[in-house]
Amino acid sequence: MAKIGFLGLGEMGTPMAGRLLQAGHDVVVWNRSGDRTAVLAKEGAAAAATPAKAAAGRDFVITMLATPDALEQVLFGTDGLAPALSPGQVLIDMSTVGPDEVRSAAARLPKGATLVDAPVRGSVPQATSGRLDIFVGATDTDFERVRPILETLGSVRHTGGPGSGASMKLVANLALGAAMVTLGEALSLGESLELQRNVLLDVLADSPIGPIVKAKRANVESGQFAPSFKLRHAEKDLRLVTETAASRGRDLKQARANRAWLDEAAEHGAADLDFSAVVATIVGQERLR
Ligand code: NAP
Repeated sequence: MAKIGFLGLGEMGTPMAGRLLQAGHDVVVWNRSGDRTAVLAKEGAAAAATPAKAAAGRDFVITMLATPDALEQVLFGTDGLAPALSPGQVLIDMSTVGPDEVRSAAARLPKGATLVDAPVRGSVPQATSGRLDIFVGATDTDFERVRPILETLGSVRHTGGPGSGASMKLVANLALGAAMVTLGEALSLGESLELQRNVLLDVLADSPIGPIVKAKRANVESGQFAPSFKLRHAEKDLRLVTETAASRGRDLKQARANRAWLDEAAEHGAADLDFSAVVATIVGQERLR
């Protein structure tokens, strides 16, 4: 069993750290809002006062944070964990922050400490039941070191060298954002043609966007969007997608259009709702709320 530091106890981090505890690992947790450590402390985790203390002496340090800025803060800000890392320690970043941020952070770690990027596909139910898809960017040696830890959380795919996991996650979320917005636009078109919503959803469930229809149908039908994957994170992901592509000379016109819908939904107050709330914006807010 390994000594693990786990930082970032949000919607995803809490169940993920819980699974590591249940598997018998020795887990120290840290979260910016300290009250969120209480649940895991009851399950046997120790709570650290700072990121640096959560990392000290651990075999593996896992971060599951909101944004590139949050990762910067936790690694390199006051009492940040990066300076506390020693040779041989492995930092596993599971946040969605894009390849440029993980490569930049890796280059600034102390000599001998390693960063493996391992962002995830799947949401809270998959995090809770250990069924996440994990995209791992690492050397072959580092991949074999982290594999047993990550297999507690889901199925592990070695996507290539360092940074490739973060790259693959952007590709996956380009597709996710497109499917979600397509559902909204398909409903918008269908309803403008006076088709019934339940019949539209039945037909779309058997279309290429079927998985997202099945996953989010209850939200759309109820008009309730309790957050599982917050819209602010989907918006951040499509920002990373379009900006990362632009920096490589690629203009992703559809991704930019999908991002515009998410931006509009956030402006309508949906940032902290589930990202499926973008459907409400697309079909006309008052129709779903
Ligand atoms: P979340 O519930 O919003 O939690 C975000 C975490 O980041 C919290 O622990 C928060 O601390 C911390 N944080 C935010 N800003 C910070 C800062 N400046 N300094 C230190 N800590 C900070 O997010 P989540 O849903 O768990 O997602 C975490 C990551 O996984 C994101 O990158 C997201 O895009 C990705 N992801 C999410 C899902 C999903 O379905 N939810 C699926 C796949 C990937 P506080 O508690 O103090 O706010």
